[in-house]
Amino acid sequence: MATAAFLSIHNMCSWMIDSFGGAEQRAHWLPKLVSMEKIASYCLTEPGSGSDAAALRTTAKPDGNAHYVINGSKAFISGAGFSDLYVLMCRTGEDGPKGISTLLVENGAAGLSFGKNEKKMGWRAQPTAIVNFEDCKVPADNRVGPEGEGFKYAMKGLDGGRLNIAACALGGAQDALDRALAYVKERKQFGKRLADFQNTQFVLADMETELAACRTLLHAAARKLDAKTPDASKYCAMAKRFVTDTAFAVADKALQLHGGYGYLADYEVERIVRDLRVHRILEGTNEVMRMIVSREILKS
Ligand SMILES: Cc1cc2nc3c(=O)[nH]c(=O)nc-3n(C[C@H](O)[C@H](O)[C@H](O)COP(=O)(O)OP(=O)(O)OC[C@H]3O[C@@H](n4cnc5c(N)ncnc54)[C@H](O)[C@@H]3O)c2cc1C
Repeated sequence: MATAAFLSIHNMCSWMIDSFGGAEQRAHWLPKLVSMEKIASYCLTEPGSGSDAAALRTTAKPDGNAHYVINGSKAFISGAGFSDLYVLMCRTGEDGPKGISTLLVENGAAGLSFGKNEKKMGWRAQPTAIVNFEDCKVPADNRVGPEGEGFKYAMKGLDGGRLNIAACALGGAQDALDRALAYVKERKQFGKRLADFQNTQFVLADMETELAACRTLLHAAARKLDAKTPDASKYCAMAKRFVTDTAFAVADKALQLHGGYGYLADYEVERIVRDLRVHRILEGTNEVMRMIVSREILKS
């Protein structure tokens, strides 16, 4: 999950450059990003603005016509320190979403530095750290699209990103179910296999059903995003919320079916539960997903 999610964030950044970047930016970056010769990180969250991302305070001020000077910090950045390119959402204008622009910052730029690798509950296969900008000077040509469009780009990137975060969660939960199925066929208690208890059978049936429901909603949302339907963002939010909550619950049931062994690192299920937990938090918390869905249905 952590590896797949790492790739999905890189893909989201590449998609943003492909969709909104100029011809030169696309020609320069995309071949390297697609081949993964270069890796990109997505920089939206700040220490003081998470769910309220439009309140971000990292600034990029013009330095003549040819450069911006960036000051501020980004928190929780996946791949920070490892990635070659940082797709940065920063403030070039007024307060709120309309004052935000997207800049490309290359690793090695003077004034760019990274915090310590955060110690996390899960997702330990990839680094997460603070990204600091201190009088970090980048060419004005590194701006993606016009000034003031950055928040829109960031949100559009997250539509697809949320589907991928959900897909990674679904894969993790399926892995947990597969492991539980194998385990209950082998482990015996009270002279029977665990699989022979009706409670076990009913739990497994619910897990299978819940994952089928996840798959159906996720595919429906993906089809809507591909077709650019007006309700695509709502579906992406619904799928992200439902799939990541359900996948976590399914993995927890798999752990329970393993008894005490599920709690041991040897059986891998505890890692799946730990890795899945963050899917309910990042790329917009599941509460923020509910805000998006309720806003859409109440406005009509
Ligand atoms: C491992 C990891 C990797 C990450 N990777 C990245 C990355 O690569 N790039 C990036 O930009 N960010 C990344 N993030 C940041 C992530 O997107 C944020 O943590 C997330 O958006 C929540 O922001 P926050 O942590 O500041 O929580 P807060 O916004 O402070 O929220 C705290 C709680 O309050 C709730 N809440 C907030 N506002 C409301 C409201 N209006 N109504 C109801 N409830 C509300 C939230 O749902 C949450 O439960 C990552 C986070 C983690 C943990």
